[in-house]
Amino acid sequence: MRTLTDPADPVQEACGQLARMVPRLRRETPVPDETAFAAPGMTARPAPVPGNPAAFFAYTSIGSSARWAAELLLYAVGADELGERWGGSDAVTARLLTEVIPKLAPGADDDTYRMVIAELEQRLDEARKVRAIDEAEEWRYVGGGSVCPFCRCSSLKTLLDARRQPGRIQCFGHREDGAPCRAAWPRLADIVPDLARAESLTVPDLEDRS
Ligand SMILES: [Zn+2]
Repeated sequence: MRTLTDPADPVQEACGQLARMVPRLRRETPVPDETAFAAPGMTARPAPVPGNPAAFFAYTSIGSSARWAAELLLYAVGADELGERWGGSDAVTARLLTEVIPKLAPGADDDTYRMVIAELEQRLDEARKVRAIDEAEEWRYVGGGSVCPFCRCSSLKTLLDARRQPGRIQCFGHREDGAPCRAAWPRLADIVPDLARAESLTVPDLEDRS
């Protein structure tokens, strides 16, 4: 799990966002009816056309880009064995995005790194343009016991994949008087100075340096 002190790595960031989008895009893509079979003398029913072509395109493109990026990175770092055959499942896509690519990317040369990040950013743009994904803001609690420096609650959430301002942090807690806190920061890193200041104020003997 990322902590407040982790430097933001663009590839890791993009991979994390894509990994979270895959199951959401999958839900917008009807599962082909694999139970359909041809009874003797009958023609098998054709698989249904996906109801949301944009979601289907974004979903399948993430899968192939993840595999392409992993192969490219393996080649770039001189891996002897390119032979691992990635299966086609979402579980493999998730593993490539959350483990394999973030692990390999720091060892790649600049050109390869740029190709990978460009590829991943294109997939993110496509996924964000899918109406069903674009319209729903999805927030997730910030882990690691982070406490809002203003209202002291632990209701900090981060915006996962809005078209604008992914990574935005907002407090969903309440102040002592019951009013919503609504403190917000553009990025996770921006909250750090406020947290540090709040920490220092909890030490009784410390002067208020503000
Ligand atoms: Zn707050």
